[in-house]
Amino acid sequence: MATAKHSEKTEVCDVEGCSSDSERSFNYKQVSETNLKLKPGDHRQVHLCKDHYREFKKQTKKSRDLDRIF
Ligand SMILES: [Zn+2]
Repeated sequence: MATAKHSEKTEVCDVEGCSSDSERSFNYKQVSETNLKLKPGDHRQVHLCKDHYREFKKQTKKSRDLDRIF
């Protein structure tokens, strides 16, 4: 197992009330366009766990497909 690049500690999800390990990180701007509530603080990079990443994806997809009505 090569763990040389894993010097960074695991980040925690930045969504309020969530303490899961983050899966990915995004621009604050991208995340602020969704209605995910973030923990107070200065977020340049927002970390999202698996669940909130899915939520984020759902919401960003929704705004992109806004003109498509089902
Ligand atoms: Zn989360």
